[in-house]
Amino acid sequence: MKGFSTLPARRVALAWLLIALPGCAAVSQMNLLSAQQEVEIGRQAAKEVETSMPIYDDPVVAAYVDSLGQLLARHSRRPDIKYTFKVVDTDDVNAFALPGGFLYVNRGLITTAKTEAELAGVVGHEIGHVVGHHGARQISKQYGLAVLIELALGGQDPSLTRDIAAQFANIGGTLALLKYGRDAEREADMFAVEETYAAGIDPSGMAAFFEKLMALHESEPGGMELLFSTHPPTNERIASVRDQAAKLPPKLSLSSSSDRFIAIQKHILERRPPKP
Ligand code: ZN
Repeated sequence: MKGFSTLPARRVALAWLLIALPGCAAVSQMNLLSAQQEVEIGRQAAKEVETSMPIYDDPVVAAYVDSLGQLLARHSRRPDIKYTFKVVDTDDVNAFALPGGFLYVNRGLITTAKTEAELAGVVGHEIGHVVGHHGARQISKQYGLAVLIELALGGQDPSLTRDIAAQFANIGGTLALLKYGRDAEREADMFAVEETYAAGIDPSGMAAFFEKLMALHESEPGGMELLFSTHPPTNERIASVRDQAAKLPPKLSLSSSSDRFIAIQKHILERRPPKP
């Protein structure tokens, strides 16, 4: 019976994480959490997430994703918290961020990206959700009064933190905390353009990846369905990313790919050949 419970749970977890990307709450939602509370909630949610999702066990790939992620985070508007990047062992094309700097990149995203700039754009977007405190704002929206009382008492109510963390990680529960909203998505896109450009990576990579998602969605909707429906790569998003990128002063040193990225893709594909 063991396998019975594991597989559906994983499937639900994947469905959940794909829904983690999109959203519908207003970005202007106030953030009532301190950075410390946000990080603590993220840490507990990460613990729960990692019991329900398989982490890709490959130090070479993990080190690469971490170094790319750290490079972008260093160039973000919120470089003062610790970021962790982990690779999820699934073909599904996705990435997601928990509050406080806990980020997850799917193996399928790394192999689907055509260039490092495309991958960096998506990772930068997820960092953007952390930079914009989008998770913390969602918590504030849902738990407003409870969080305020908790802050007024000056305490760190472990049961409240546990409850919120469980919601982020709760695959069967409400997804309200993970729906960031269209404004938040737009803001995360904007942060991604800034981060990639500042890190010396072509900021239009994200737009190229959105275009690819749209094309793939038409030719083989299966694998992209969830990502597409929950994190819609709309023409408007593509245009505004391209617009923002075009307005930046030209930089000769912007890279679109790297030898290391190509080697990592090869490494993953050799380890697990794609399904015929
Ligand atoms: Zn997003």
